[in-house]
This record gives sequence, C-alpha cells and structure tokens, in this order.
Amino acid sequence: MSLFRDDFKGLDIPNNKEATKDKVVEIANIPKRLYFPMSMHIGAPANVVVKEGDAVKIGTLLGSSDEGISTNIHSSVSRTVVKIEEDSSFRGESEVVVVENDYKEEKEYLKEFDIENLTPEKFSSIIDEAGITGKGGAGFPASVKYKMGKEETRFLVINGSECEPYSTTDYRCMIEYSEEIIKIIDLIAKIYTIEESYIAIEDHMTEAISCLDKEIKNQKAENIYIHKLSSEYPQGHAGLQIQKVLGIEIEEGQRSGDVGILQSNVSTIKAIHDAVFERKSLIKRIITVTGPMINDPKNLMVRIGTLVEDLIEECGGLKDGEIEMINGGPMMGRAFEDKSIPVDKDTTTLLFLEKQEKKKEKNCIRCARCVDNCPVALQPIIIRNSFINGRYDRVPELRSESCISCGVCTYICPADISLLESIQALNKKWKEMKND
Ligand code: SF4
Ligand code: SF4
Repeated sequence: MSLFRDDFKGLDIPNNKEATKDKVVEIANIPKRLYFPMSMHIGAPANVVVKEGDAVKIGTLLGSSDEGISTNIHSSVSRTVVKIEEDSSFRGESEVVVVENDYKEEKEYLKEFDIENLTPEKFSSIIDEAGITGKGGAGFPASVKYKMGKEETRFLVINGSECEPYSTTDYRCMIEYSEEIIKIIDLIAKIYTIEESYIAIEDHMTEAISCLDKEIKNQKAENIYIHKLSSEYPQGHAGLQIQKVLGIEIEEGQRSGDVGILQSNVSTIKAIHDAVFERKSLIKRIITVTGPMINDPKNLMVRIGTLVEDLIEECGGLKDGEIEMINGGPMMGRAFEDKSIPVDKDTTTLLFLEKQEKKKEKNCIRCARCVDNCPVALQPIIIRNSFINGRYDRVPELRSESCISCGVCTYICPADISLLESIQALNKKWKEMKND
C-alpha cells in the first residue's frame, strides 16, 4: 500500500521568503568561543575524543561517531579546547566541547583518496568521515543512504524544493553554488551508475532554475534534469517528492533506497561536494535568519558552534515586543527560549515571529478537513482522541507512526486543535509502552 495518497494536492500557504530570497549569503562573524554539542543529529551522541588544553585546527575531530546512527563532529575554528561541559543545545542537554579561536584559520583536511576511482563504499565512507548530516532539517547521517551498491541504485533525486515558509537557505545555495552542485551530482551518477538524476525545485524559484540549467549546459552534464514542482506545501518531503518526480510509489515502512533511489537535500549535496573535491569536513552552513521581529534579515554562512545571540546581533537585533523564536520554519520547526545555545549542523533557519497568544482550542466541528488534507491519509482527530483517552495501544491500527510531521492538520483545523502535538505525544507514549 502506497504511503502517500494519489489525490494529495498540497496546501497553498504564503511562503514569506521575500525578506531574504534576493540577499546574497554573507560570511558571518566568527566568534572568539564556539560551542560544539555532541548531539547535533538523529541517533546516538558522538563520543568526545579531545581533552581540555588540546590544540585543534579547523576540521580536527572533536567527537567521534559510534557504530550505528551517529555522526562525527569537527572543530570549525583553530586553537584550544578550553572546556568540556554538560550544557543545553537544540537537542536538549548534551556534552559540549568549547573551543577558543585564535583566528589563524589553520586547517586539517580529510585523508587523501583517489577521486578518479571512488567506489560506493569509499564514497559513503568519505561522507561518514566528514560528519555530513542531511541538511534539510532532520539531521539524519547522510552516509547511511549512500551505503547502497551500484546495482541497487537507478535514480538520484535532489531536493531543492524548500517548501517551509521563510527559509531561503537552499534557494541561495542553488544560485550561489550551482557549479558545485552539478559537479557532484555528475560524479555521484558515475560512481553509482545512476540512469537519471533530477533536481526537484518549486516553479517560482526562477533564478535558481536558470543558474542550475546554465551549469548543466556549461558542464555538458548528461542525464541531469530539473523537475519543476508546483509551490504547494509539503513538496519537500522525501517520499512525496519521489512520487511526484518519478511516479514511483513509496510503500508504508519503505525508504527511498528500498526502491533504488538515492535522495539528498541540495545543501547536503553541496557539503558532499566540499568533502569530496576539497577534503573538507562539515564545519559551516548557510542559515536564514529571518522573520518580522528581526531588524535586518539575512542569509549567513555560519561556523557551526556560533551562538544564536551572535547571529541576532549580526542581523541588527530583535524588535521590541514579545517574540517567539523558532529553530526551522513555522510548519515543522521547534520553538526555543534560550538565545545562548549554538547553531548546529541541523539549523537551517532561525525565525523570529511576534508572539501570539496561543489560540484556545475549540470543540471539533467534524468538518473532516484534517482527514481530507493529510498526505498520508491518516485520521488526525481520531488519533488525537485516542491520545486523550489514553488508548496508546491504537497506534498500529491508526498508523499514527506514519505521520510525516508536516503540520498540515494543525494548520488547517478551524477549531485550532493542536493535532500534530497530540499525534507526536501518542507516538511517544506508544514507544515507551513497547520499551517497558
Ligand atoms: S502532521 Fe497531520 S497532516 Fe501531516 S502527516 Fe501528520 S497527521 Fe497527516
Ligand atoms: S479539522 Fe479540526 S474541526 Fe475539522 S474534523 Fe479535524 S479536528 Fe475537527
């Protein structure tokens, strides 16, 4: 059974990208001290491999990934490890390595390899070593997907749709790094003997489309195509995108790799380019700092480990009033309170909105809009009622673990019911029950 419904149209929501979409990425100031949480990704935290007083360079390994789902973490500046402490991060409390910067910018590169003769195994090990995580917001270690063999892969789909409102990280990446993006796609296609590669991109992103198109022609790259998507939310979800681009259905419980497809976000692909062609680990990323409550919204190239408060200052500070701070976009992002936490590999957007009084939930009017608009054909209100009634055991029957957390049901509900919140809470309770 296909995970996604055939008739799903998507929501037409305001994209609110005007404030930053035409702003060139600026290099953010590099602070004196940088903070590296050992948990910047889905999976197990990395293990600290340095000690206080150690000298480090840009690219020196600070935390090493364990077996299983985890990621290496590297220093983004040079000089000294001054502290290792427990502190808060976007992923909760975690061990944090603090590095003081001497601004000498000394660098340590990934080990040398023969770029002409890369096998899929070697290629995925480079991604692993460079500590690259999926940069679309989920923070999944990118090497896991690339562990596929040549014979298993047919298509490469690059996600450039960036459907979250406000965010222009991927958009600017496609405009400013189109050469690098096409170069690495071409190499991946050769390594994995890919038949066709597609860059999926929303049709209103005209400048990015023309930059990529020009590069495909410049590099005489064969079998790389731009696939224009209409601008509805949530076009950026991996499985949904595969269905739209290739017409291949992803079944419940399947991943893209199970149907012969390699898939990466466009910013992840740029990070892979830097690892393969420049032997650089993932130590910086583009972040969109935006929203009506920041004085000077920008796209910034930020060293990982920079504090949120430094970026706020660099963007002219916050306006007066009560502010809601969100890590990510308004649909799938998470609110946070503490400005003194560092940005990590997973931070795409820092959004500053005027704090609205939380709307009081009203009674369900049984309009069925949440059901009709769910891309994976769930019944959000029934799932919510199961949570309220303590029926955690109904998770398998209601397929609530198939929820892709798109937030459409909450957005569309006229009774202002926090449906997604309840679905996530129910799934959490079910997991706890199973592990008991
Ligand atoms: S967040 Fe709501 S609409 Fe989106 S997949 Fe989950 S239940 Fe469906
Ligand atoms: S959209 Fe809201 S009001 Fe309508 S059925 Fe769903 S929960 Fe009830």
